[in-house]
Amino acid sequence: MTSKVLILGGTREARELAAIAGGEREFEIVSSLAGRVREPVLPEGQVRIGGFGGTAGLRKWLTDNDIDAVVDATHPFAGTISAHAVAAARSVGVPILHLRRPGWSPEPGDRWIRVPDLTAAARAAAEHGRIFLTIGRQGVAHFAGLSESWFLIRAIDPPAGPVPPRHRLLLSRGPFTVARELELLREHRIDALVTKDSGGDLTVAKLTAARAHDIPVIVVDRPPTPEGADRADTVAAAWEWLRGR
Ligand code: NAP
Repeated sequence: MTSKVLILGGTREARELAAIAGGEREFEIVSSLAGRVREPVLPEGQVRIGGFGGTAGLRKWLTDNDIDAVVDATHPFAGTISAHAVAAARSVGVPILHLRRPGWSPEPGDRWIRVPDLTAAARAAAEHGRIFLTIGRQGVAHFAGLSESWFLIRAIDPPAGPVPPRHRLLLSRGPFTVARELELLREHRIDALVTKDSGGDLTVAKLTAARAHDIPVIVVDRPPTPEGADRADTVAAAWEWLRGR
């Protein structure tokens, strides 16, 4: 019997799981992307792109497509879709796993300023003159009012909304090397870094570089993990969960 699984994606972990499970005959995998990025890195196998239309839309989609299990492998900061996924899956009795990689931890020499959200991050950033903003394209508007500071904004695609008046946009997709991050900090005379606590090793080099340059890092804490889903923090654990279905 084939088990049909929806993987909510947009992360490397989601692509890895789709590649592993998609290679097994007993699984049929459909990966879903929000469609935010102009040229997304596509997972192997079937892919659908675009929102479902809230919890009700996702509930209908799960039923219409005879889905047997959902793995929410979206980014740790994609809180809305994660909440929708739990509500929709539970309402139709489909098991759901929330796969979320662990966050980063400070190391000796780090100067981290932990903040609860992007509003607080912007408040903390206002204390600094030349800021490396690495929170992705969404959320840059929180920093748009900081006219005294200069920003190096790095994102895959240009931000859609307002941006700080003094900035340079660097369109780039990870992974990034420590050598390149050190060069960016030096070249742009950066005196603070702003990041989400995304975790993983694709974008961790900036933290190593900031430590080496003794630069403070404003770290935005993750939103809470949604209640009501099983949990895994590695692709291997998620694969175990799927095989146990
Ligand atoms: P979000 O705020 O949690 O979700 C907003 C809406 O986007 C959802 O209500 C849903 O629309 C749609 N959506 C989100 N993820 C989807 C998916 N995988 N498949 C289909 N629809 C999806 O999400 P977000 O923070 O904008 O993130 C969007 C995507 O980018 C996610 O897939 C996430 O994994 C990826 N991503 C996010 C970040 C980040 O920092 N937030 C970083 C890297 C990658 P409907 O209500 O219409 O269903």
